[in-house]
Amino acid sequence: MREVRIRDTLSGELRTLDPEDEVGIYACGPTVYSRIHIGNARPFVVFMLLARFLRSEGYRARLVINVTDINDKIYEAARQASEPSERFAERMTAAYFEDTGNLGLGRPDAEPLATETIGGIVGLIDDLIAAGHAYESGGDVYFRVRSFAAYGKLSNRSTEEMDQGEEAGSASLKEDPLDFALWKAHKQDEDSSWDSPWGPGRPGWHIECSAMAEAELGPSFAIHGGGSDLVFPHHENEIAQSEAAGRAFARVWMHNGMIQKGTGKMSKSEGNIFQLGEALDRYGREAVVDYLISGHYRQPLAFGPGPMEQAVARTERIRNFFREHSGGNSGEASPEQQRGGSGEASPESRLEAFKDALADDFNTPRAMAEVFELVGEANRGEVSGAVEAVREMVELVGLGSLAEAEQGAGGEAEALLAEREQARAAKDFGRADEIRDELAALGWEVRDSADGAKLVPRA
Ligand SMILES: [Zn+2]
Repeated sequence: MREVRIRDTLSGELRTLDPEDEVGIYACGPTVYSRIHIGNARPFVVFMLLARFLRSEGYRARLVINVTDINDKIYEAARQASEPSERFAERMTAAYFEDTGNLGLGRPDAEPLATETIGGIVGLIDDLIAAGHAYESGGDVYFRVRSFAAYGKLSNRSTEEMDQGEEAGSASLKEDPLDFALWKAHKQDEDSSWDSPWGPGRPGWHIECSAMAEAELGPSFAIHGGGSDLVFPHHENEIAQSEAAGRAFARVWMHNGMIQKGTGKMSKSEGNIFQLGEALDRYGREAVVDYLISGHYRQPLAFGPGPMEQAVARTERIRNFFREHSGGNSGEASPEQQRGGSGEASPESRLEAFKDALADDFNTPRAMAEVFELVGEANRGEVSGAVEAVREMVELVGLGSLAEAEQGAGGEAEALLAEREQARAAKDFGRADEIRDELAALGWEVRDSADGAKLVPRA
């Protein structure tokens, strides 16, 4: 079992995970007001793969990624879609499960919904009122920020730089502009509400996560994660709520950098598409996963056709390696090459270096560099027996399907693919989407590339 270290946003230091403890990880999931974009996929991939790596090392990891299905943005988007907010949120939640399912990485251990956690949310707010950290006002409940001395410790902001980003109408109900809402009274234009001791209403976003994390992982857990855009106010407020209520809460705060759109125009024809589902259709799941781990998780990552084409090329390089070296031809080097070589590392030492990189603040680019070094050495005949090491490495980052032998698609699938091309040419995108689903049911993923559409076995 390796010692695994993670950079903690709160202390700025590397923190070692306790191998004796369950490693509970709570990562903030999407607010389901639209289809998710590739930026939302980054924390999903980073935390799914971190949990996978920890388990492979023998840690007891438990990953929770929530779904925020009660939120201002959902009411607004549902109104625009002329749909009841509940049904709209259900539809978008299903789309999120489908899109992230197509990444082929499995599911988190728990995916709680805010709508299913109302009891825990109300209980937590009750505790805060009883302790003097929150107050009811006009059917709303607010957190009394100045009652929590450690407020601001995560984001290191002065109070002048703190804007809770709440609607102007709530200002008159607050004791202090710094305070933020835990519960909001039902409004005329909202088509759902829940009962509470303070009247019908709905929870604020921040308290939803404090309550869902506690419900799934208990009052104290190892890692709280999410995008760096959530540090303030969302995570600052989660700390205030949970710690003021006497919970120890997260021991390490782990934030991923943002995906940055290129300066070019966003368009499908440019390949500069931003929705996860579209990116998966165009580039395939392996390239999307490879792209999302191509930079260190804490750094921003540039998105656009260039980086995606590079990811396609990298995954093809690995696929070709398995095509050439699997089966009878397993990349055996001659005895002279094995002895002499050019002093290259053995497959075993590359594999160890790969795992060491992941244990060192989950450094995926450094880990993947080991994969490509070993692939290059094997292709040049400098090492033998590289196939199993490369297979173990790519499986750890969710790319094990690159090692699978391809079969021909067969008549039915090829005929459907041709029909889909005709439908697209006729701009009948509804039919084209139907055919993509039919092909998926047959076990094929359609991948659109510059050379036309092709069929790839689904993960
Ligand atoms: Zn959250």
